[in-house]
Order: sequence, then C-alpha cells, then structure tokens
Amino acid sequence: MPLQIDLSLKKFNTFGFDVKAKKALLVQSEVELLSALREMNQAEHGWQVLGSGSNVVLRDDLPGLTLLMDIRGRRLAEESRNAWVIEAGAGEKWHQFVEWTIDQGYPGLENLALIPGTLGAAPIQNIGAYGMEVGERIIRVRALDTHRLTDQNPWVELSNNECQFSYRNSLFKRDPSRYIVTSVRFSLPKNWQPNLSYAELSKYLGIDTSKTPPRNSSSPTAKDIFNAVCAIRRSKLPDPDVLGNAGSFFHNPIVDEDKHRELKEKFPTLISYPAQSFNGKPQFKLAAGWLIDQCGLKGYRKGLVGVYEKQALVLVHYGSGTGKELLDLADEVRQAVTLKFGVALSQEPVNYPQ
Ligand code: FAD
Ligand code: NAP
Repeated sequence: MPLQIDLSLKKFNTFGFDVKAKKALLVQSEVELLSALREMNQAEHGWQVLGSGSNVVLRDDLPGLTLLMDIRGRRLAEESRNAWVIEAGAGEKWHQFVEWTIDQGYPGLENLALIPGTLGAAPIQNIGAYGMEVGERIIRVRALDTHRLTDQNPWVELSNNECQFSYRNSLFKRDPSRYIVTSVRFSLPKNWQPNLSYAELSKYLGIDTSKTPPRNSSSPTAKDIFNAVCAIRRSKLPDPDVLGNAGSFFHNPIVDEDKHRELKEKFPTLISYPAQSFNGKPQFKLAAGWLIDQCGLKGYRKGLVGVYEKQALVLVHYGSGTGKELLDLADEVRQAVTLKFGVALSQEPVNYPQ
C-alpha cells in the first residue's frame, strides 16, 4: 500500500471510531520503517504506531504519519535441550501466532489465546490473561530506537530484563514514543506444564487444583487449554466485529493492606487477590469490573456508548459514536468508583492523538 492520505481508520481500531489518519503507511519491512521515519519531518508532524487498534481510543483525526505495522514472518530460530526459540514479526496476528505455535508442537502461550491484536503490541502492555503474562516467555525484543534515527545503526535488541515487564506494563508503555517493535523472540519450554492457576480455567477443564499435582481423569494438553480459553472468552467478551470495544477499559487497581482491610470491612463481598508486595509490604489487586458493577453501572448506556452488560470492565461503542463520547463515559465511571470506594481507576487503552 503506498502512502495514503486521509485514510479512514474505522477498520483499524476495534472500537470502530471513524477518524482519519492524515498520512498512513502500511509497514512491511524494517527497511520501509526506517526510511519512512528518516524521510519525514518529525518536529513538524510527529508519528504514531498502530497494530490492530485493539487497545487504543481514537478520539480525533491523527496528524502526522500513522504507521500500520504489517511486518510478517514466524520461524523456529533455535532449539536447545530445554526450549524452542521462536521468532516472529511485529505484524503477525497474535491469536493466529499462538495457534500456530501449538500446532507446530511448541506449547507455552495457550493461556493467551484469542487476545486480539498484533504480536508487536504484545510486549507493550505485557499482555496477560488466565494466570499468565507474555513477559514470562519473551527473551528478546527487536526495535527501532527512534531517538537514534541519525545513527548508522538505530536498531536495539532488548533482553527480557531490559523490557522491564510488570503487571500490564513495560519499558515500551512507560516511554511510548521511543521504540517501535519489529520482531520478538519467545522461549517455549520443552518441560511444559499446564498453567491452571486461574480458577475459571481449571473449573472449565474439570480439574481439581486442591490436589497436588492437580487431578482429573487425564492431564490437559496445550491444545485443550487453548480451546478452553477460547471457549470461555467467547462466552464472556463482546466480539469487536459485532460490538466495538477494547477489552478491559481500566486496570485492576492495586491497594495497600490498610485500604484493603477498610474496604473488606465495608464491603464483605469485595473481590480481591494478593498482588506483588511493594517495599516488603503486602498489596492487593481489586477486580475493577466488580467495583463498577457495584456502582450499578453494568449495562449502563449513554447515547452511542455504554458499559457492557456481561462484564462491567468493558466499555462498548454501539456505532456512529465518537472517542470523545467514550472518554466522557469513562470519566463518569471513574468518578462513581472513586465516590463509592475511594479508589482511582486508571485507563488501559492509549488515547490518540496524545
Ligand atoms: P494497538 O491497539 O494498535 O496499540 C496499542 C499500543 O501499542 C499503542 O500505543 C501503539 O502505538 C503501541 N504499539 C502497537 N504496536 C506496536 C509496535 N510494533 N511497536 C511499538 N508500539 C506499538 N489485553 C490483555 O493484556 N489481555 C487480554 O486478555 C486482552 N483481551 C482483550 C479482549 C478484547 C475483546 C479486546 C478488544 C482487547 C483485549 N486486550 C487484552 C487488549 C489488546 O488486545 C492488547 O493490548 C493487544 O496487545 C493490542 O494489540 P494491537 O495490535 O491492537 O495494539
Ligand atoms: P474474571 O475471570 O471475571 O476475573 C475478574 C478479575 O479477577 C480479573 O481481572 C483477574 O485479574 C482477577 N482474577 C481472577 N482469578 C484470579 C486469580 N486466581 N488470581 C489472580 N487474579 C485473579 O475476568 P475476565 O474479565 O473474565 O477476564 C479473564 C482473563 O482475561 C483475565 O486474566 C483478564 O485480565 C483477561 N482479559 C483482559 C482483557 C484486557 O483487555 N486487558 C480483556 C478481557 C480479558 P487479571 O486481570 O489480573 O488476570
């Protein structure tokens, strides 16, 4: 696709907001990416990257250059006694990639089945679901360092540690206008064990996790888990092709022990889980969807946008609304939760233009 002018992005974001990109380029190789950025006048126009647009709110037309990532390719790069190392391009579709790894006999990503989006976006927010985060399997991310565009070699290869993965976060999310991911390497273990830590998943598979090792008549394969995750997700989440959404709209908030105790006393049915401690002090993760639901907002509709009727953490777009209307609704939800629980919700999708 040559450079497009005033391209409608309706099909390039899962909310389906109809905004335009002033200039848009489908990027299919590292060479194209580098030359496009070197040629443009960044100071004047700026740029942004879009994968499948499943974690963004497009609130207005996008100025500058929009890079639509489409670098493909996937292969077994190395094999050791303990692991298969798989390398794939940033433009691969995440779910298809996961399915391919399993069909090739490389298990380890099955809990992350059916997450929309591109492979290159997976490290950005360290995608996670059903008891697993992608950072557990990434060994290297290759990216263009846009702060070094005039260097002879502006490419970097970041190790897992350098990516600074944490809960739905990473170096790339903290410093959003610096790196453009072009490929990722995963290490998939040969001594694979099923991850059944997520209660809904083990229940679906009929496995009793109170026994060690967990029991049922036969141990699930990676494909069984993949199929189970797909089935659970299809039953609970809206299909963006039918109803615009970006999955969870807010992060699950993390609170300290005192706040957790206070909330638990006031709301005994509060849903919470132990989270990673901070400075040696215990912390707790609250289910943001439950907080929103308790404010009576599940199924709430405000014009052309609303709160999904089956999962309050998902905001939806019924069609012909705007990103601004959605962000107004998000503010309303946030205020209701702050008022009732004294807990601040932070937004997961990124707003563009920034
Ligand atoms: P985009 O939305 O296009 O971009 C997201 C951000 O990443 C933007 O800031 C963009 O600039 C940046 N970006 C994209 N590609 C690159 C790149 N190559 N280099 C640098 N920056 C880049 N997320 C989860 O973590 N877990 C889930 O279970 C989950 N379920 C979802 C279910 C539904 C129905 C939907 C709609 C979304 C869900 N999401 C989930 C959110 C989303 O799918 C993921 O965050 C996904 O990784 C976003 O990929 P994308 O290609 O659509 O990224
Ligand atoms: P759910 O099962 O209704 O659970 C609600 C929340 O409780 C989840 O957000 C999850 O946190 C937490 N939780 C449940 N069991 C847990 C456990 N054993 N240990 C720790 N935390 C636990 O959630 P759901 O909405 O149907 O989503 C299912 C999974 O898919 C979740 O992992 C969720 O993150 C993921 N998902 C993410 C998005 C997104 O856009 N980010 C969209 C849809 C689904 P965690 O979120 O930390 O797992």
